[in-house]
Amino acid sequence: MTDTFLSKIDGDAAAQPNFWQALEEVARDVLPIEKAHSEFAKARVLHRLAEPDRILSFRVVWEDDAGDVQINRAWRVQASNAIGPYKGGLRFHPDVTVDTLKFLAFEQCFKNALTGLPLGGAKGGANFDPRGRSNAEIMRFCQALMRQMARFIGPDLDVPAGDINVGTREIGYLFGAWRQLSDSYAAALTGKGLSYGGSQMRIEATGYGLIYFVACMLAEQGKGLDGQRIAISGRGNVATHAAGKAIDLGGTVITLSSTSGTLYAPDGLTKEAVEWVQERKAAGEEMNAPPTSLGASFHADKTPWEFEPDIALPCATQNELTRDMACMLAEAGTQLVAEGANMPLTSDAAALLARKGIPRAPGKAANAGGVAVSGLEISQNAHGRYLSADEVDRALKDIMQTIHSRVAEEGRKDGQIDYQLGANIAAYRKLAKAIAEQGIV
Ligand code: GLU
Repeated sequence: MTDTFLSKIDGDAAAQPNFWQALEEVARDVLPIEKAHSEFAKARVLHRLAEPDRILSFRVVWEDDAGDVQINRAWRVQASNAIGPYKGGLRFHPDVTVDTLKFLAFEQCFKNALTGLPLGGAKGGANFDPRGRSNAEIMRFCQALMRQMARFIGPDLDVPAGDINVGTREIGYLFGAWRQLSDSYAAALTGKGLSYGGSQMRIEATGYGLIYFVACMLAEQGKGLDGQRIAISGRGNVATHAAGKAIDLGGTVITLSSTSGTLYAPDGLTKEAVEWVQERKAAGEEMNAPPTSLGASFHADKTPWEFEPDIALPCATQNELTRDMACMLAEAGTQLVAEGANMPLTSDAAALLARKGIPRAPGKAANAGGVAVSGLEISQNAHGRYLSADEVDRALKDIMQTIHSRVAEEGRKDGQIDYQLGANIAAYRKLAKAIAEQGIV
């Protein structure tokens, strides 16, 4: 069934390996549901979701500190606004291509549907490498990007936010440029600073939400976070906030990592160690010389998966965890995997874990906390009433628990939960109903 479906998808898509991987993984799970509902089959829901509504491509021209003209390519993939305005992050990375953004926008449609909030799916970004760039260069790049993008976004149209290498600083520069260009204060971005309309807890939300989701998965197995040895990859916003929350809840976080190696603490990283990692990242420095007081050592060229964790949380980037690494986890007795990054496992790594019966929560469910709090930011901006950090935290916990129950309900089979199946089906049902009910548009 999946092969027949894929054979009808536009030829360009097959040459986009990340998009193809994401599509194939969803198609396998949801086509039986589409087939079983004539109104969904007739509307060709999945085929429509596989074709983004619109892909905008921009040339971004800016001047570097040396006075030289720099040229980058940026895109915004507006995948579907069937359940709400387009919504998803912006990523700055030299590896960003249309393929990457198409896969991320496709996944975002499903993730956003799972939050229960009225959010469509989109993703954007640029092949811009912020490493080594000055603050002034980052600002000029953000302004140049917004000059291109401003007329295509807006609170009812498309609401970008952050993603890899786009945090509060970049959103600040993008928002500054947006309000100047649009002559309005409309909330066309989320992840804003607290002094100009941002939400409490937006920075922490993805990482905290991931740990709340993991707590639900463990509760299913009759366990808690206490004493669990947790390996986390990455050292960005998601990884470090997940580490902080896991430590607060009694977990032993044994790793964080960068592209050059892994910081390993056999007795667990302290909150001070996590702060040290955040400071190194902000300064654009490596983690290879940790102070001895941190009780951690740096292992060049090692991945976190080599340190025999009970729980593995890939929080770096797509396809970071390969089949060999999954094998290593299975042999070490890892009991649970939850994705802080989007599609961090290769297909064969995911298949191996499934064969070994190791539960794995896909990013579209486990990392939905970030976009969920973005959704809360949009409603706070619309109503002009702002929630306290405690209120947002409670709402976030509630949303993650609700996502877990919906996914568990759809994914329960033979006494186990297939989280990927559950997430795909739960999200698909919502999207399919909205698309079928709104006619052929
Ligand atoms: N980039 C984040 C994600 O992958 C957040 C998107 C948003 O807040 O719009 O879900």
